[in-house]
Amino acid sequence: MKILIAGELNPDLILRNYQTFPHPGKEVLVEDLLLTLGSSSAICAVGLARLGDRVTFAANVGADTYGDYCLGLLEREGIDVSHVNRRADLKTGITVSITSSKDRALVTYPGAISSLRAEDLPKGIFAGFRHLHVSAYFLQDGLRPGLKQLFAEARRLGLSTSLDTGYDPSEQWSGELIDTLREVDVFMPNESEIQGITSRQDVMDGLRALDNGHTLVVGKLGSEGCLSLHEGTLIEVEAFPVQVVDTTGAGDSFDAGFLHAWLRGNPLRDCMRFGAACGALSTRGLGGTATQPNEEEAEAYVHAHAGH
Ligand code: ADP
Repeated sequence: MKILIAGELNPDLILRNYQTFPHPGKEVLVEDLLLTLGSSSAICAVGLARLGDRVTFAANVGADTYGDYCLGLLEREGIDVSHVNRRADLKTGITVSITSSKDRALVTYPGAISSLRAEDLPKGIFAGFRHLHVSAYFLQDGLRPGLKQLFAEARRLGLSTSLDTGYDPSEQWSGELIDTLREVDVFMPNESEIQGITSRQDVMDGLRALDNGHTLVVGKLGSEGCLSLHEGTLIEVEAFPVQVVDTTGAGDSFDAGFLHAWLRGNPLRDCMRFGAACGALSTRGLGGTATQPNEEEAEAYVHAHAGH
C-alpha cells in the first residue's frame, strides 16, 4: 500500500520531570531528557511504516543537524525521503516539551515546519500512490492555501485523501477548512478540534455540523476512545486499557492504524478499533514513536481485548 504524506518534519526535545516550573531569571533541573522524532505528520508516517505500509514523505527541512537527525530516523523506518527538500535558507523547527507527571509546557520554533507549499511538490508526484495524508493543517501556513486543490488533484488521479488538522494555536479555526473538507475522504479530529472548528461544545452536535455528505469523520476522544457518525448511525469504540507513560502522538498513531485498516477495506468499526489499539499502544513509551506497534502486535492486542 503506497501512501504519500506531505507535511512538517521536526524533532521534539523532551525535558522530563521538573521539580518546579522554570521562571524568568531562574534555573531548574530536570530528571531526564529525550531527543526524539516530533511532528504529527512524521509520527503518523512512522506509525504506517511500522504497520508495513510503504510510505513516502514530502517536507522541507533545514540543511542542519536536526534535519539530518529527522531524515536519519525516517530512513531507518524504511520511509522514502526522496521528496524531503534540504533548504539551506531555513532552520529545521523544534518543539521543546517541559514535562512533569502533572502537566507539560510546549515551546515551538516553527522554522521549516510552515514552509512547504503545494507548488513544492513535483508535478506527477501522485503516480503510483494509493493515498495522500496531511496532518497539522493549522501549522502548515505554506501548504494550507493550496491544500484543497492538492487533495482534488490527488482524488482526480484515483488516490483517497485524509486530514488531521491538529490544534489551531491561533484558535481562529479558519473557515476555509470546511471547504477543504469537501476533497477529504477521512477526517480525524480530536474533541477540542471538533469544538473549535464547529463552535459546538457537544461532540455529537459537532459531528453533525461536520457532515458534508461525503467526508467520513472519526472523532478521537483520548481515554474515552473514538466515535463516528456514519450514514446517520453513531459508532462508538471504547479506548483500550493501557499503562500510559506519555500520550504524545497518540492521535497520529491512531491515524496510522485507522488508515492502515481503512485502506484495506475493513468495516468502519474494525478500522476504529485498530486505530484505537495503535493509539493506546503508542502511549506506553516516551515520545510519539517509541512504542508504535507493528501489524502483528496491533492485531494481537485487538484480539486479546476482543470482548472489550
Ligand atoms: P490526539 O493525540 O489527536 O489528541 P487522542 O488523545 O484522542 O488524540 O488519542 C487518539 C486515540 O488514542 C484515542 O481515540 C484512543 O483510542 C487512544 N488513546 C489516547 N489516549 C489514551 C489513553 N489514555 N488510554 C487508552 N487509549 C488512549
